[in-house]
Amino acid sequence: MSSQTVPGPSAGGAEDGDGCAEYLERIVYFLDNELDQADVQQVQLHLDECAPCLRKYDLERTVKAVVARSCSEAAPSGLAERVRMQIRTVQVQITDG
Ligand SMILES: [Zn+2]
Repeated sequence: MSSQTVPGPSAGGAEDGDGCAEYLERIVYFLDNELDQADVQQVQLHLDECAPCLRKYDLERTVKAVVARSCSEAAPSGLAERVRMQIRTVQVQITDG
């Protein structure tokens, strides 16, 4: 992996995987459309180049869809549980990575 060196005053600091945890928090807000435009762009940029976070984003979106559906359809509780497990797996991978 080669990181681009962008000459600039204070751009943010080292994000060597550590940044992912921050982004994962933002992804939740991102899905709820509760982010500032600047943050939205940052998250989108990160999702473009970070596969684990993108997968987490997809899963979060799936959970939201399942939850929304279960509200109207009373889906079996096992389904949401299973999706949660998947998310946890991805989170562990990200933490380990
Ligand atoms: Zn990431």
